[in-house]
Amino acid sequence: MNKPVILVVEDDAPVRNLMSTTLKTHDYKYLTVPTGREAIMLASSHNPDVVFLDLGLPDMDGVEVIRQIRSWSNMPIIVISARSEDEDKITALDAGADDYLTKPFSVEELLARLRVTIRRLSTMNTDGSADSSVYTNGNLRIDFPAGCAFLNEEELKLTPIEFKLLCLLAKNTGKVLTHTYITQNIWGRSWDNDIASLRVFMVTLRKKLEPYPDSPEFIQTHAGIGYRMLKVE
Ligand code: CA
Repeated sequence: MNKPVILVVEDDAPVRNLMSTTLKTHDYKYLTVPTGREAIMLASSHNPDVVFLDLGLPDMDGVEVIRQIRSWSNMPIIVISARSEDEDKITALDAGADDYLTKPFSVEELLARLRVTIRRLSTMNTDGSADSSVYTNGNLRIDFPAGCAFLNEEELKLTPIEFKLLCLLAKNTGKVLTHTYITQNIWGRSWDNDIASLRVFMVTLRKKLEPYPDSPEFIQTHAGIGYRMLKVE
């Protein structure tokens, strides 16, 4: 993959400068804009590889920017939101954002999120894993048509719901999925007790999948928000 181009959408000049300095220091190509309207224009004219999008923009709601970009592109979008706005992050993720960063964030966090996203992009570009029938990630292998999953070539004894859950996370590797999104996909609805059940199934799935359930390698928890399957090295 060529040097990725990052689009930074942020109206707060100090944050924008911190981000551009960080990207420059780490040799990324980048563009910055302070408004949603310009973000949509540049997203379509420059086709960036990754977008960092502040949710609180002066001219329009960041979620609307996501909706507009999603109407024609799957480019990864990482939203930037102020602390204590879990609801906003959830809305943004459900509108199609891939990940989020909470203000104030460190340079290390910014770079870590970017690496996760770029790693996902390179796998998407090389093996088109989203559509292939066999998924591999580290020692995990899922055979979608056969309906089975293997860890170190040993078959995992999963219940139908655990398998569905694993497939959903795997097909969206690198992306944070909200509780609502997951329960809608598994049970076709999202009631409070579905979210409670989801937690239980996640515990049992992790016990089977993760060698060290307390420091999971594959499935990351985002407290109050959802879960994400990580691409393992
Ligand atoms: Ca702002």
